Amino acid sequence: MADCLFCRIVAGEIPAKVLKRSPEALAFADIDPKAPVHVLIIPTRHIPAARDAKGSDGEGLLGGLLAFAAEIASELGLDAGGYRIVTNTGKNAGQSVDHLHFHLLGGRKMTWPPG
Ligand code: 5GP
Ligand code: ZN
Repeated sequence: MADCLFCRIVAGEIPAKVLKRSPEALAFADIDPKAPVHVLIIPTRHIPAARDAKGSDGEGLLGGLLAFAAEIASELGLDAGGYRIVTNTGKNAGQSVDHLHFHLLGGRKMTWPPG
């Protein structure tokens, strides 16, 4: 989608610190990190949010993104200390970019529940 920020990052039109890529997924550093490790994991094709990933296609996509995030967490040495993977969906969750993304957060103790 031409006017989507994350599609433009996928296309290389906007620079990002890319950590890992596959044909289906891209992982890059969040521009405004909320933890020592803050990586965004996105599908390379435009899907607005988790609620739009339906059916067996959606299942495969969401599962693939989660596995991709867990691989990155391992590669960044987060397995022992632990980490959080979260996706904000829609207004109440505070989603600010309408291209599905998982946040991978680690490197510090986190509280629960989120605000
Ligand atoms: P959301 O609020 O939708 O769950 O998360 C969007 C995330 O995208 C935020 O954590 C924000 O810091 C990040 N973000 C916004 N614009 C950019 C950008 O241009 N580059 C990168 N790398 N991250 C961005
Ligand atoms: Zn997009």
